Amino acid sequence: MRFLRRLSCALPALVILCSAAANADTVSDLAAKAKTDSWGYDFLADLTTDIGARMAGSKSERDAAEWAVARLKKAGFDEVHIEKFPVPYWARGAEEASIVAPRTQTLAVAALGHSVPTPPAGIDADIVIFKSFQALLDAPEGSLKGKIAVVTQKMVRAQDGEGYGVAVRTRVAGPSEAAKRGALALVIRSIGTDNHRIAHTGVTLYNKDLPKIPAAAISNPDADLVERMAAKGPVKLHLKLDSKTTENVDTYTVVGELKGREHPEQVVLIGGHLDSWELGAGAIDDGAGVAIAAGAAKLIADLPQRPKRTVRVVMFGAEEIGYASDAYEAAHSKEAGNIVIAGESDFGAGRIYNAELPAGSLNSPFAKQLTAAILPLGVDMRRESSSHGGADIEGLHEKDGVPFIDFGQDGTHYFDIHHTADDTLDKVDPAELAQNIAVWAAFTWLAANSDVDFRAQAASAGTAK
Ligand SMILES: [Zn+2]
Repeated sequence: MRFLRRLSCALPALVILCSAAANADTVSDLAAKAKTDSWGYDFLADLTTDIGARMAGSKSERDAAEWAVARLKKAGFDEVHIEKFPVPYWARGAEEASIVAPRTQTLAVAALGHSVPTPPAGIDADIVIFKSFQALLDAPEGSLKGKIAVVTQKMVRAQDGEGYGVAVRTRVAGPSEAAKRGALALVIRSIGTDNHRIAHTGVTLYNKDLPKIPAAAISNPDADLVERMAAKGPVKLHLKLDSKTTENVDTYTVVGELKGREHPEQVVLIGGHLDSWELGAGAIDDGAGVAIAAGAAKLIADLPQRPKRTVRVVMFGAEEIGYASDAYEAAHSKEAGNIVIAGESDFGAGRIYNAELPAGSLNSPFAKQLTAAILPLGVDMRRESSSHGGADIEGLHEKDGVPFIDFGQDGTHYFDIHHTADDTLDKVDPAELAQNIAVWAAFTWLAANSDVDFRAQAASAGTAK
């Protein structure tokens, strides 16, 4: 069948049809290979075993970057290198939280990233409880003087993870909002959907015009307890954080390419972030994402020839503390016009179940090929165009107009684990990781081995309206 196709494909009129058919053959070969090839899973298993957690700016992050460089070189990637940039290195240190009145109870706690420390003896104070972030915002200025503010808003579980966007505001903006009202510290219910006595960390961003107060998350059952106690009468908490920030420490982004055989300057960029929180091993967030991107590209690297365009795998540094996107955009804004499309995997290894293409691309031949390639893998093509491709490629899209793909993954249980000590290798299902690799390999191959111009498609769709 394929031999006959090769013969008839010598006829010029059939070249376009044949290249589509050849692409289809290649993507089904890639998908089949993804099921049996363990390179991607081994990447993740070894990353979490040999290196473990990879806090931005830490020695282990640097070790991970050097380790990843060696892996990519050995796998046959081109132009493998590190791009470094300075970030503040935040180290957690010792931390403790407890109820001291009306009775004593130790709480499972995690300081929020960037949190300032408490005084060495800690803070002991009465609490004021808010069942929603909005309730905190509604509190008058000065009303929290001498108190620890506690926000217990619950995160809603959803397959696409949309509850996170709502709940995370408390973590990101809560400390400054509490400080504005005079609080000594902020304690929040973990931004997570589990019911275990394990706290979820994550970054907070201080408003530079307000005092920085210590901020931490307690586990969800502990937040329930504090809420029940507060309904009965006054509650006093103890909070002690010993976090430390060191300015201007290098973080590392690792890059490996498959140079395009016809248009090496045109780039299909896929990636994830290599850094992780340090409580767990960074398996689902985002060891899985870098393993998926690199694993997909490795399958393409193993093909007899490189695709027409360059495939670039980027393992971003310092995503978790909020620096990756701006740093990459600043360093690459001049060449951003050559980035044909970008995509990022940063939602664990849950099965991909849908895809969204950039605006204007849905009726293109490319979309038809991709739809046909991913349907057998259990993935629908949505009619809506992509609206969020990932935190690390946001800058490229917003400032430079780089189009992006978005794959929807099953994140029903992702936020049970996210940013906790439970983020370990056993939480990743090898078969689900393989399905992700198959989908990304199909997309990456089709985009890199074609002449599809997503920007032109968006522009012509815009004028057609
Ligand atoms: Zn992440």
